[in-house]
Amino acid sequence: MSNRQPLPYKSPWMNEELEMFRKQVRRFVQEEFVPHEARWRQQHRVDADAWTKAGATGILLTDVPEEYGGGGGAFAHECVVMEELARSGVHFGQGVHSIVAHYILDYGSEEQKKSWLPRMAKGELVGAIAMSEPIAGSDLQNIKTTARRDGDHYVINGSKTFITNGWHASLVCLAVKTDVSAGGKGISLVCVETKNLKGYRVGRTLEKVGMHGQDTCELFFDDIPVPASNLLGPAEGKGFYQMMEQLPYERLTVGVGAVAVTEQAVAITTKYCKERMAFGKPLLEFQNTRFKLAECKTEAHIMRVFLDNCIERLMTGDLDTTTAAMSKYWLTDRQCAIIDECVQLHGGYGYMAEYPIARMWTDSRVQRIYAGTNEIMKELIARSL
Ligand SMILES: Cc1cc2nc3c(=O)[nH]c(=O)nc-3n(C[C@H](O)[C@H](O)[C@H](O)COP(=O)(O)OP(=O)(O)OC[C@H]3O[C@@H](n4cnc5c(N)ncnc54)[C@H](O)[C@@H]3O)c2cc1C
Repeated sequence: MSNRQPLPYKSPWMNEELEMFRKQVRRFVQEEFVPHEARWRQQHRVDADAWTKAGATGILLTDVPEEYGGGGGAFAHECVVMEELARSGVHFGQGVHSIVAHYILDYGSEEQKKSWLPRMAKGELVGAIAMSEPIAGSDLQNIKTTARRDGDHYVINGSKTFITNGWHASLVCLAVKTDVSAGGKGISLVCVETKNLKGYRVGRTLEKVGMHGQDTCELFFDDIPVPASNLLGPAEGKGFYQMMEQLPYERLTVGVGAVAVTEQAVAITTKYCKERMAFGKPLLEFQNTRFKLAECKTEAHIMRVFLDNCIERLMTGDLDTTTAAMSKYWLTDRQCAIIDECVQLHGGYGYMAEYPIARMWTDSRVQRIYAGTNEIMKELIARSL
């Protein structure tokens, strides 16, 4: 996507080292991803070697310690990667991949970390997180996929849907019921290496209204044997608690994308309104256009300041679940409203898929749905009242 505009201000968590890293990530994304983006949208997934190229360049697992093959950086490094991908309009499931890595980092045994994280950092293993099922999305306690213990193995049966990175995933962090009678307390997380795994099947790549370049799939598990040692955490039944604990990280990654795309949308719309003529003058000379863009720019700036505060708090271990829920709900809500206004300011061209703003509009809509719907976010926030 062209028309890159400077950021409105410098985030307090940015520093010189991160600026250098940003340049490196931007160059990589522009040279290795952007030229293929249209084709990836057609085929509904990135090329497999995009993962190994990203790994070789050092943009995977940037905030995982070096001893496990990661970049040894902070969440700020992840933010830089996510922002550059979002601004370029490339949908590469690096965010989900990182979320899986953090589950392993926080709950995995030393052996699990050493086995999976270095390969994930190289892009040799692609991570997916599989919680949602056809009958249970928001209501995760109601999942039906089971893992029955059989000696030193689990035997897993069930299906998952809407799974990001589903096509490429070679390491699935899977939410299962290890005790079907215990509700949320019967949920566990088991990591499944899918290569050549008997009984594992990737179903349809789902046809979405946006984010066409990202593989979102159904996954099927039919009596698949998984070593019991692939359980995440010291005991069964901790999965629901682990998911709740990791959600602030996941929700903030959604917010990072929301703000980056919104800033980009305002920038390209401003440029468009300076260039497009109507009634003998640029659109930007109409007071309505100027006022609408002034509103969009103001709101985008407020979003950025709130996000930056959340990023800093996450990095100091101080981001509570309520604020994380606020950021996910409000930033994505504003993202959709502002980008919708930007479409309007583009007129008919704003509805044409060949225009970046149209794709931003269709791509953005899901932000209010996944990683916990915005209604669920409001429920969580309301619990703090
Ligand atoms: C593109 C995409 C990618 C995704 N990636 C993944 C992934 O990688 N891994 C994964 O596990 N899942 C993934 N999901 C699934 C996503 O997390 C769920 O779609 C989401 O959690 C909502 O669940 P649901 O679709 O079953 O909707 P439902 O839970 O059926 O909700 C339907 C509606 O009811 C509302 N609702 C439900 N319960 C309540 C309540 N208690 N109070 C108020 N309103 C309520 C919801 O807010 C929503 O508006 C993805 C989804 C999409 C679309």
